[in-house]
Amino acid sequence: MVREICISKEELIENLEAKGLKQKDLHAKAVNIRDEYLSKNVYFRGLIEFSNICNNDCFYCGIRKSNHHVKRYLMSKDEILEAVEFCNKADYGSIVLQSGERRDKKFVNFVIEVVEEIKKRFPKAGITLCIGELNKKVYQKFFDAGAHRYLLRIETSNKRHYEKLHPREMSFEARKKCLKNLKDIGFQVGTGIMVGSPFQRVENLADDLLFFKEIDVDMVGMGPFISHQYAPLKVDGNNKRNFNLSLNMIACLRILMPDINIAATTALQALHPEGREYGLNAGANVIMPLVTPKRYREYYQLYNNKPCIEESSSECLNCITQRIKSVGLIPKFGEWGDSLHYFRRIKNGYSS
Ligand code: SAH
Repeated sequence: MVREICISKEELIENLEAKGLKQKDLHAKAVNIRDEYLSKNVYFRGLIEFSNICNNDCFYCGIRKSNHHVKRYLMSKDEILEAVEFCNKADYGSIVLQSGERRDKKFVNFVIEVVEEIKKRFPKAGITLCIGELNKKVYQKFFDAGAHRYLLRIETSNKRHYEKLHPREMSFEARKKCLKNLKDIGFQVGTGIMVGSPFQRVENLADDLLFFKEIDVDMVGMGPFISHQYAPLKVDGNNKRNFNLSLNMIACLRILMPDINIAATTALQALHPEGREYGLNAGANVIMPLVTPKRYREYYQLYNNKPCIEESSSECLNCITQRIKSVGLIPKFGEWGDSLHYFRRIKNGYSS
């Protein structure tokens, strides 16, 4: 049984601002809850950033359409399969296929073909997609092809805030509708936000946490907002504050939703060399080692100072395994590590 945990918005705000001893206590509480519900296992998602071609023009993102300084790429099917083969050998239970957003038929069919081929060649691989907003029919096709999880960050749960971060042709409602469609189809659904994005206030972050609870998500990925030299929106707080806020967000969310999967994101490591370990020590239970071939990494920079650009996939494997062990957790190879929350949700007959 999962205890129903109710925390008021005021209490969340107080916890989000925790520093020093109070912050240590908050993280320890979150870690105890994680260990109780999910044990000390940490699951891997090999991250393949297979294309940086994007039709969106988000004001914060380094691969936004109007950044003409970046070379655009789409990995071939064989290159993607090679990366999946690496994951298979490394015994990462799951992979994430992530890209910029495209809605054309050619791209959609390419993704379906790739998912089917992965399932054929590596039937044990769990497949998560993170390729943005598409219509329900297309999501259904991805699901039928064999993908079973989908990540789509809402970026902020506040409509007015959303509109300040995105151009007019993007809509908060459309993104929210996508999350509902994904859930109705049967995906395990993940979302998330950027912590410390311009115009954001701590109250917004508390609302974001309550939003995750309200839409009953299975997985969450959140990391600090970091400026990109060719994106117009720059960080307006300070990185250290955003780093601590990100950790406190992870801890508060673990307390609020004990059985979901929470990622210790790469962006944490961009701000601190041990950022991901801190994420695990605040209650996260998933880690996403980079499996994008080294030759493409420099072109997939959503923000400046993205770590691991110079490393190879094998170096990432060794490094991450060490990092997990260093904080007394168990790297869990060869398992999908599905969100336990998802199974409870479907057993209870969820409403979306
Ligand atoms: N287009 C896909 C994948 C986007 S990249 C999709 O929308 O699902 C994955 C995430 O990177 C985004 O959802 C966003 O939250 C994050 N991101 C983008 N720019 C960032 C920045 N400047 N700082 C921190 N995170 C950023």
